Amino acid sequence: MKVLIINAGSSSIKFQLFEMENESVIAKGNCEKIGLPGSFISYKAKGDELVEAASMPNHTEALKVLLDKLTHGKLAVIKSFDEIAAVGHRCVHGGWLYFESEFITDEVIKNLEETKEVSPLHASANIAGMVGCRNVMPNTPQVVVFDTAFHSTMPPEAYMYGIKYEDYKDYHVRKYGFHGTSHRFIMQETARVMGKKPEELKIISCHIGNGSSITAIKNGKCIDTTMGFTPLEGVMMGTRSGDIDPTVVSFLGKKKGLNAEEMVNYLNKQSGLLGISGKTNDMREINELVAQGDERAKLARDMMFYRIAKYVGAMLTVLNGADAIVFTAGVGENQEDLREYVMDKLAYVGVKFDRKKNATLPRGTIEELSTKDSAIKVFRIPTNEELLIARDTLKIAGLAK
Ligand code: AMP
Repeated sequence: MKVLIINAGSSSIKFQLFEMENESVIAKGNCEKIGLPGSFISYKAKGDELVEAASMPNHTEALKVLLDKLTHGKLAVIKSFDEIAAVGHRCVHGGWLYFESEFITDEVIKNLEETKEVSPLHASANIAGMVGCRNVMPNTPQVVVFDTAFHSTMPPEAYMYGIKYEDYKDYHVRKYGFHGTSHRFIMQETARVMGKKPEELKIISCHIGNGSSITAIKNGKCIDTTMGFTPLEGVMMGTRSGDIDPTVVSFLGKKKGLNAEEMVNYLNKQSGLLGISGKTNDMREINELVAQGDERAKLARDMMFYRIAKYVGAMLTVLNGADAIVFTAGVGENQEDLREYVMDKLAYVGVKFDRKKNATLPRGTIEELSTKDSAIKVFRIPTNEELLIARDTLKIAGLAK
């Protein structure tokens, strides 16, 4: 049985086609520059890949292009899109309305329009992907999986901000949390590797990529996370500042002649590793700059590591200790000195790890980094949000075996 996963951005659609018999990806790619000049599709299947210019004035047309690639030409993997049993959509924000994956209906789309209030950019793009897919595949069941859903179990003391209560009530201003699909996948994988049920474990999941968040999971449920009302809060990231005193927004806005919206854009797009280094948001490039003696790149890396360690400590307190700490996503999976830095800081709670193993991990494998006598287990586990979306899609569409 095949499931298509769609991750629609404002001008792109990333896609993966899964064969669910063995949970393998049989085709994947990206439609880019949708609605812009120079739109093109990159597509990988059968061990080969192509990049082709294609007219994609909107998401519906882009979806037609991607379905054509799946069904026609030498890299086609299916004869007709009737072979696609269901489509799963990644949606960044379920707002205050959705706390679990949902079967997409007209009503769900209508309700999601309301979430534009709290997530203007992402909601429009995600909805365009869903509407486009329903246009081109009207008879195929479609499911939406929310990045915020896993965090809906946070208690009020964790998700409330210390502002006027009426503003929470009237405007839905609260911490929502993001990367929930990744954190849920990590929870399930950690439990599997440890031979336990998620309900038996306390886990700190560190999703450290271009965007980063750290989540405290207790008995299978999120109880706190670092991202907030938007994905800007928490640790310092590739281009996002993470936590900052809000007074800086008005102070710096006045100095730079930027209004509040422009300042939020500055904090989202020009800050973090990029802002501090002045050169790049990419951790691999930061590493190269540090090796060449670039002081600002080193400061950027030090700041990011420090803040991650600080939040892992906070989550340890929130959980009253943990059974496992897990590193995942582009940086968490591959940056050995980040993991070493955090684990060294945790020696005081009895974390012990194999330094040599941590420094020489193969790519993309699940690895235990802690030693047998460590008080807390530490793992490197590759995340796979798309696979979790595909599994949820089959379940919600009533197709799971
Ligand atoms: P993600 O958002 O999960 O795709 O992660 C993207 C980030 O992971 C970028 O900053 C990349 O530079 C970083 N990354 C990917 N591969 C590596 C690697 N081998 N070592 C260090 N960082 C990496």
